[in-house]
Amino acid sequence: MAAHGRRAPAAGRSLQAALMTESFGIHYRITPVDPNGHLFGVQLRIHGPAPEGQVISMPAWIPGSYMIRDFARNVGRLTAESVGRPVAVTKLDKQTWRCAPCEGMLLVRFQVYAWDLSVRAAHLDRGHGYFNPTSVFPRVHGRDQEPVRVDINPPPDQERMRWRVATSLPLLDAAEWGFGSYQAASYNDLIDHPVEMADWQMASFEACGVPHHVVLSGRHRADLSRLCNDLQRVCEYQIKLFGEPAPMQRYLFLNMVTGDGYGGLEHKASCSLICARGDLPVAAEQPVAAGYRNYLGLCSHEYFHSWNVKRITPAAFTPYRLEAEVHTRLLWAFEGITSYYDDLCLLRCGLIGTESYLELLGQMVTRVWRGSGRLQQTVAESSFDAWTKFYKQDENAPNSIVSYYAKGALVALALDLTLRLATGGQRSLDDVMRLLWRRYGMTGLGVPERGVERAAEEVAGTSLQGFFDLALDTTDDLPLPGLLAEFGVEFQLRAAEGQDDKGGKAATVAAPQPRAVLGVRSQAEEGGEKLTLVHAGSAAHAAGLSAGDLVVAVDGLRVTGGALEKCIGTYPVGSQVRVHAFRRDELMEFLVSLQAGPADTCVLSLSAHCEPDIRLRREAWLRP
Ligand code: ZN
Repeated sequence: MAAHGRRAPAAGRSLQAALMTESFGIHYRITPVDPNGHLFGVQLRIHGPAPEGQVISMPAWIPGSYMIRDFARNVGRLTAESVGRPVAVTKLDKQTWRCAPCEGMLLVRFQVYAWDLSVRAAHLDRGHGYFNPTSVFPRVHGRDQEPVRVDINPPPDQERMRWRVATSLPLLDAAEWGFGSYQAASYNDLIDHPVEMADWQMASFEACGVPHHVVLSGRHRADLSRLCNDLQRVCEYQIKLFGEPAPMQRYLFLNMVTGDGYGGLEHKASCSLICARGDLPVAAEQPVAAGYRNYLGLCSHEYFHSWNVKRITPAAFTPYRLEAEVHTRLLWAFEGITSYYDDLCLLRCGLIGTESYLELLGQMVTRVWRGSGRLQQTVAESSFDAWTKFYKQDENAPNSIVSYYAKGALVALALDLTLRLATGGQRSLDDVMRLLWRRYGMTGLGVPERGVERAAEEVAGTSLQGFFDLALDTTDDLPLPGLLAEFGVEFQLRAAEGQDDKGGKAATVAAPQPRAVLGVRSQAEEGGEKLTLVHAGSAAHAAGLSAGDLVVAVDGLRVTGGALEKCIGTYPVGSQVRVHAFRRDELMEFLVSLQAGPADTCVLSLSAHCEPDIRLRREAWLRP
């Protein structure tokens, strides 16, 4: 292809392809015009623009990530023309433009600044180009249901860069994995297909007859055949859980490999992942290491979303309205149930053992139990206010909010165990998911706000009102110790051994003495230790210490960064210590009465002795 990536002329293609490609009323074209300046060039051709003036707008958010991101902020100067003459453009609000009425085709041009290395936006440099269509392609108002054509052009230096294109967009007139024309059934369909262009690596496998591809951009030494074998087990397990055939015709795991990244975003036929190089498996590695377990959990999570949220979708998102916040109380079900199943699937398909699974579950309990925010916000409120609270966390978040991911996963666990007990082991959350799939996923109907509760009650054959009232609409702790005991799993809480203790494992000392703590999280900083969180009700809170304070001395002796926790731990519980800290540039003194660390760290273990019926129940829960 030529340097600026114009496609082969129409004469070189078949007549049928030419007819197909010319028949689209909406036609986007994107080119990585300036990788050094991180600029994509975008053209939008609209055949038959609205006679009163065509309105176009950029989305304010991307499905799956519930925060206003205002993608229009990265759109440069936008111009329009028709039959060679300029068309006036008026900005209507932060993200909407009106092009003046014109005869003939309307051509809109602009550039997008792409320098956000996340799965939610767009990123371009000499190493790769990545974009979500929500970051680069405006919506053509009044034409949402029309099929669209998308030309993806190569970078100026393609001869040297040798980039290929990875996307789940259906091909229109391009070689597989090549630059050229792609298509989407509508604007909402278009924005569900991220695109990665790079000199990437790929490995493939089939799951239940469906081709799956793993694409990796960035430097790595991963053992791709191991990765494919493991992912195949996860995918096949999930397809069979919901029932064959799989809902997608092919699937892409798009990976951006970095030093320490972590994140994912779900789509119907792909997911975008950012992962840490060190989490990927290398050839010699046999058991699933902790980092690789996290990575597989992330893949499992995003893949489960192919059903739960991408096809079984809240009515509030049917269709997605991307110009402003859309509220639903249901994120606990879409993120929480998915977070429950992500690791459970690794166990059920044999990639990790029971001990490893209980460790992960114990960590999930710890995440919820460690924040007093769980006593301030219900999980339904957390879902509803995701936009302004969960996605905009500050230093006080653990004291004021609960995560609909973590608590939602525990609600899912409690619901699963409750259903199994209520039906004598005949039914489980798996049946609820299959019912939701049949009722909403396969029909395209949106899930009403109480739809998950109703489906669970149908599966249970009895009212679960008491359960859901407590779990969703109160801040009371879930009755997990009793429920887990019915399945031969002991629930214990102990004090944390330090701020790096994530829970899930027994204490390293058999009968530890109570350890004095301030009740803070902190990080080493030049000249002392910076408090990043002061737990509500802690010794530090009572003494007046605050997040942001730089602790420099305890009892008149300097504290070097990283030594605060250990220093405090040498005092008996109940001691009074003088803490010196800088708040802004002012030195302050605080008198702190040290407390024992609270029992907020969960350990789950198999009960040593349990009745045969309890053992059977446990096996039915933890095995497929
Ligand atoms: Zn998720």
